Amino acid sequence: MRYSQMLLPTAKETPSEAEVVSHQLLVRGGFIRKLTSGMYTFLPLGFMALQKVTDIVRQEMNRAGAQEILMPMVQPGDLWQESGRWQKYGPELLRFRDRHEREYCLGPTHEEVVTDIARREMQSYRQLPVNLYQIQTKFRDEIRPRFGLMRCREFVMKDAYSFDVDDAGASQSYETMRDAYHRIFTRCGLDFRAVEADSGAIGGSFSHEFMVLAETGEDTLVICRSCSYAANVEKAAIAAKPIESTRKPVDNLVRAETPGIKKVEKVAEFFKVRPSEVIKTLFYHVDKTPVAVLVRGDRVVQSVKLKNLLGATDIAPLDEEQIWEQLRLPAGYLGPVGLAVKVVADQEIMGMVNSIAGANEKGHHFTGVNPGRDFQPEVVGDLRQIDTSDHCPSCGGDLELKEGIEVGHIFKLGTGYSDAMHATFQDSDGQEKSFVMGCYGIGVSRVVAAAIEQNHDSKGIIFPLPLAPFQVIILNLGPKDERYCQAAEQLYTDLRSHGLDVLLDDRDERPGSKFNDADLLGIPYRLTVGKIFAEEGKVELRSRKTGAMEVLALEGSGAYLADLIQSAL
Ligand code: ATP
Ligand code: MG
Repeated sequence: MRYSQMLLPTAKETPSEAEVVSHQLLVRGGFIRKLTSGMYTFLPLGFMALQKVTDIVRQEMNRAGAQEILMPMVQPGDLWQESGRWQKYGPELLRFRDRHEREYCLGPTHEEVVTDIARREMQSYRQLPVNLYQIQTKFRDEIRPRFGLMRCREFVMKDAYSFDVDDAGASQSYETMRDAYHRIFTRCGLDFRAVEADSGAIGGSFSHEFMVLAETGEDTLVICRSCSYAANVEKAAIAAKPIESTRKPVDNLVRAETPGIKKVEKVAEFFKVRPSEVIKTLFYHVDKTPVAVLVRGDRVVQSVKLKNLLGATDIAPLDEEQIWEQLRLPAGYLGPVGLAVKVVADQEIMGMVNSIAGANEKGHHFTGVNPGRDFQPEVVGDLRQIDTSDHCPSCGGDLELKEGIEVGHIFKLGTGYSDAMHATFQDSDGQEKSFVMGCYGIGVSRVVAAAIEQNHDSKGIIFPLPLAPFQVIILNLGPKDERYCQAAEQLYTDLRSHGLDVLLDDRDERPGSKFNDADLLGIPYRLTVGKIFAEEGKVELRSRKTGAMEVLALEGSGAYLADLIQSAL
């Protein structure tokens, strides 16, 4: 492609709303343009990058034996009624009516549609297993679309669905997809981890997320330094510690005046104890009912674990005002003693002795608070977030926390959808059985953003070679000089004849702005027809990633670069 003919509107300015670097660079580099909130057009360069991801995903899905289909994006509400998700899915599902007043939605995911295909088209165990996938636009009316391609309302997803005769078969399909995902993200050139994950709204029993490691990730991962254990903190379980046998003697409950002493740290300081000896009391709306949640003062509530522990569909923390309006309790002085609200405690709480907690009265705390004697939680369980003071649940090793961007998610679904939608086949013993399903997503457009979050510098993008829209950019620094133009054209033809993706910067621009744009766009190799060409008839090759330079003869550059790129891919 010739730069002069390409719609490639680069900009110096960073859009003010772009909070993360991938969003800034994708706009500045002319890859994407916003249509409206959470909806973007892929301009030619952006579409090329997207295609690179799509190609890898498609090749590896096919290699794993999955079959590509294309389902409609608009889905009838009836199917969602059948699965029970019309009620459950909430406002992320964009619903509307057609001219006949029938209800429809825009597909945020396709379990219903694909299960409908299975029940119509697969009658016998002989047809199974089957894995169907598509690469298609999804719509989710996200509450806060942000970060450019990372969290859109409209985005490109690869979604796959497996159908097996039994659980053993479904496990096999799951493992096949897990391998395929490893190959996909390795081939994309990304630093990623597969982590144990919460199954979320899609449901099911078992799942892994594929996370690209990057500081801007919205997820936190806990990774063992010694073994292969890695999990999303939403999922990471903490084993109950045995309650120490050498317990301190139990003190009396004493009400103490603590005027203006509110935060855990302040309370600990005031009583000259560690924060871990204070009980932190928070309030949540759990399916609209207020519930008190207790964790040790130095811990954090993990809301997904809390939600799962309580089997709730919706939880939200209450703020100071809500706590006062709804419960007449003073934030800062909350505690479990004498509370007329359901109390849920983290398992650690039950091992605490002579702890400190709020007295539910302004300016007052209790000392000598002993769980079991002074209050009895209705539910006790694992609801706090794991941290680096914990040990690996698998091997006992040290843990570290890292931020990650979720680019893929695989689930074992079981028979939830097939039971609800009566999707059955006849097994070898003549019995009607429900398909055992799995589903497997990749955020194809999010991968482009994640690649940039992980690979950039102050000058711009540093694309991993497999995802780069162009592999090589040729800079003609003498666009008005016939000799320069001839050399650049020769290189362009040579490289293309070796099957390389090449952008020829033939614009009548200053060298400085050509260098800047090349850096901004993140094309892995830059070939410059410049000063060395004038002096020695040679060209300069530079790696965007390492900055390493070499001088090449004009002749043979194509073969040389083709070799270099082939061995790096
Ligand atoms: P998240 O927790 O980020 O909302 P999810 O669990 O809702 O993701 P899935 O339903 O598993 O996501 O969808 C499969 C993949 O689609 C995700 O792993 C992610 O890469 C991508 N994805 C999900 N929501 C969005 C979005 N709003 N914008 C871009 N990509 C998305
Ligand atoms: Mg989501």
